[in-house]
Amino acid sequence: MQRYTVSDALVLRRTPLPSGDVVVTLLSEHGKWRAVARKGRLPGGNLARLSLFHDVTVQAYRRRDDDLAVLTQVRLNGALAGLARPEAYPYAHLIAELADALTVDAHVGDRLLAVVTSGLKGIAGYSDPGAVALAYAWRLIALAGLAPRARSGSNPACERCGARATVLAPDDGTLRCREHGTGPRDVQVGEDGARALATALGGSLREAVTSPPLDRARAWRALSTYVREHVGELKALRALSEVSA
Ligand SMILES: [Zn+2]
Repeated sequence: MQRYTVSDALVLRRTPLPSGDVVVTLLSEHGKWRAVARKGRLPGGNLARLSLFHDVTVQAYRRRDDDLAVLTQVRLNGALAGLARPEAYPYAHLIAELADALTVDAHVGDRLLAVVTSGLKGIAGYSDPGAVALAYAWRLIALAGLAPRARSGSNPACERCGARATVLAPDDGTLRCREHGTGPRDVQVGEDGARALATALGGSLREAVTSPPLDRARAWRALSTYVREHVGELKALRALSEVSA
């Protein structure tokens, strides 16, 4: 029995096959899924509509729940033109790759799509796309339940003693004071960096974007180290770290 579905989705990943078919990873409100668009078999459609980061409405069918869905119609709702800018593209790629990695094992919930979409819009349109990517990357990590732990308060405090946090300890996923941050892989982020990080995780995203950490290289190092430990190796993040190092 064939089952048809219609969903709004964001294209997170696109893999052209030698046959001319295209496999896409889509993020919808109900989660992440994969589908194939057969070459020449998309009525009235065009495989270009399934470009990376496009906001689409798709009709798909699958024979059983575990089958790769087959796309039968694609409507383009919006493409964020600003993402093609060379200074924006690597950051958009990071948000898409991170969202993909965070949804491998877990269903992260319907807020993920809204946050990813909002992040991509910010990267496309804001003058400092790096600040947007940094803030939204941490927020996605928090949505997946993987945020670093800190004592709450107006400023993040050391998880051990309650003093001002200045260190991100990736090994056990905590924010700590200088005295209690003794792991070899700890990243010194400073008070300002710890505060920016805490805002990105659970505060106002607007504030996180407009008041980014002063030392950007250090902030990217903190994100890279933490993601490698708690999420996995991301190609986009490695490329960005090399640029900002
Ligand atoms: Zn401490």
